[in-house]
Amino acid sequence: MTRRLGSGSLVIATHNAGKLKEISALLEPHGLKCLSAGSLGLPEPPETGTTFVENALIKARASAEASGIVSLADDSGMGVAALDGRPGVYTADWAERQWFEGEAGRDWYMAMGKVEGMLAEKGPDAPRDVWFSCVLAIAWPDGESAVYEGRIDGTLAWPPRGTLGFGYDPVFVPTGRDQTFAELDPAEKHAMSHRADAFAKLVAEQFG
Ligand code: IMP
Repeated sequence: MTRRLGSGSLVIATHNAGKLKEISALLEPHGLKCLSAGSLGLPEPPETGTTFVENALIKARASAEASGIVSLADDSGMGVAALDGRPGVYTADWAERQWFEGEAGRDWYMAMGKVEGMLAEKGPDAPRDVWFSCVLAIAWPDGESAVYEGRIDGTLAWPPRGTLGFGYDPVFVPTGRDQTFAELDPAEKHAMSHRADAFAKLVAEQFG
């Protein structure tokens, strides 16, 4: 049986303020006090894994070892079927840093253009199926861990549409909808996203 979080403190192994806010809001109703890796001065380990699971575990384990407190990390990205699942774990890297460190310094339009350009090279009949994946990893200081994987499927739109959301949202049309993630009400996106799927699995097992 999977180990349970119970109540108490949990370190969210991210230095991204947006992720911290979103994850804390989801977990605090379950009696957990969420602390951020940034506020504890924990270092950010290099993401050297080749899968979302490996990278989420690297981040959660580094935080649990350094803080001595159970820790949760997430790793996410987009996969394009016709590109053998790329950019995958390199989703953020395809948006090269432009002016300064951090998410805001990345050029998402260039990254979306790179995906579209590579797909165009496959010819006009290349399938436009894409998905977003999210892995949540929990690591306890004694080395035990649990992972939860979420996914949402869709198609790649071109040109990008919409101004809401972040990252690759303007080119992602979830299956069954006409709007991109960047055109949908954020509450609607958050209810159906890859992150929502992974969290539903975590909450069902940890607090169900
Ligand atoms: P991570 O912070 O290393 O997990 O980077 C994942 C990258 O995937 C982000 O920088 C985004 O570009 C992209 N990504 C993940 N989730 C979403 C989403 O919900 N919408 C748009 N892009 C996303």
